[in-house]
Amino acid sequence: MSTRTKVAVVGAGPAGLTVANLLNHSGIDCVLLEERSRTHIEQRPRAGFIEEWAVRALDEHGLADRLLRTAGTQTFSEFRFDGARHFFRYGDLSGHRHFVYPQQELVTDLVATYVDDGGGDARFEVADVRLHDLDTDAPAVTYTDRDGREQRVDCDFVAGCDGAQGVSRKHMPPDAVVARHDYGIGWLALLAEAPPSADGVLFGVHPRGFAAHMARSDRVTRFYLQCPPGDTEDSWPDERVWRELQARLAVPGGEITEGELIEKRVLDMHNYVVEPMSHGRLHLAGEAAHLVAPIAAKGMNLALHDALLLADAFGAHYRGDDAKLDGYSDTCLSRVWQYQEFSQWLSDVFHSSTQDPPSDPFRARLAQARLRRLLGSEATATALAEVYIGKRADF
Ligand SMILES: Cc1cc2nc3c(=O)[nH]c(=O)nc-3n(C[C@H](O)[C@H](O)[C@H](O)COP(=O)(O)OP(=O)(O)OC[C@H]3O[C@@H](n4cnc5c(N)ncnc54)[C@H](O)[C@@H]3O)c2cc1C
Repeated sequence: MSTRTKVAVVGAGPAGLTVANLLNHSGIDCVLLEERSRTHIEQRPRAGFIEEWAVRALDEHGLADRLLRTAGTQTFSEFRFDGARHFFRYGDLSGHRHFVYPQQELVTDLVATYVDDGGGDARFEVADVRLHDLDTDAPAVTYTDRDGREQRVDCDFVAGCDGAQGVSRKHMPPDAVVARHDYGIGWLALLAEAPPSADGVLFGVHPRGFAAHMARSDRVTRFYLQCPPGDTEDSWPDERVWRELQARLAVPGGEITEGELIEKRVLDMHNYVVEPMSHGRLHLAGEAAHLVAPIAAKGMNLALHDALLLADAFGAHYRGDDAKLDGYSDTCLSRVWQYQEFSQWLSDVFHSSTQDPPSDPFRARLAQARLRRLLGSEATATALAEVYIGKRADF
């Protein structure tokens, strides 16, 4: 069975759903293909911090009503080290804030707007997705639907929004550059049914290893613990998790509230960037094109940035102007590399001082000098605040 559309969007994460919504809203035909069920993607917890520019952009397209009604906002983070609290007030310095809104809530809203309100064509639980003839004017996507039938979607363009494990990236030509970086560390990512212990993000820079705290809602908090790469969840029983979180994050006047752990998984911290992000009629967006470890909470923000640009570029194409589509990859990548550089900067600050004595005392002392400059110089803090909140990152 075959369908004809203008844009086949592969993957219903934040990137694919944003592209599909914007196209649908502009009257540009598209088909959205997702390998998991709607229920699954609406319950998959991951990100939670959305930068203000992204929320404003979603709102311009009518995609942030519930977010603006219900999300909390944050304007500072706290570095905790040597038993003391040090505040980084990026909201005051940049005039921008983070919105705290769990990724699954945003995905739920975007699916509802596209499918229920907009009557958009979304096909869930597809399998064996394959892309064809991308370097011609008549590409296509084939897949097996949830009833086991072979399907084909003929289209003008493919938006490859299928994340880090998807198929789209594999269709980039051999001469596309894939820049990779491995931090050589792991993070144990945790979700606890516990109210946030602070009004800002907490960064614990500690000789036992880095730890972090980020609100997700009034009842749920995300925590991270640095661990060896390749470590397993089994080596982190609940009692050990809380002992380490208390040791690395709690300080006098800054206690950590405990609760039931509802998610526990080890992330090996690595990054990649595919350049260019376009090949023929295929344009990648989000983690299909670039992964940034969750050190600075940047991945979903970048996915939204790409998606907004890509939908805008498709719109311009159908009005007879290809300049935005031609420049799509370069425009995305300037922000991608600023965010990668910022994540690397923060990673050095977070991880270089671990172990007592540090394994590399020179790097440890450099990291401590950076931290003192961030906390002691308003000019340095202002420059960092702009990238942290994404107010200025298109250099
Ligand atoms: C623990 C954790 C915390 C994070 N915290 C933050 C944060 O606070 N802020 C932030 O900005 N980012 C954060 N991130 C990163 C963020 O979650 C991702 O960057 C974001 O999900 C990327 O969106 P995407 O749409 O590109 O990809 P995805 O969300 O991965 O969506 C891709 C979709 O494609 C589907 N798919 C895959 N293969 C196929 C296929 N072959 N065919 C069809 N569909 C397919 C997948 O099922 C998925 O639904 C965090 C990540 C993790 C793991």
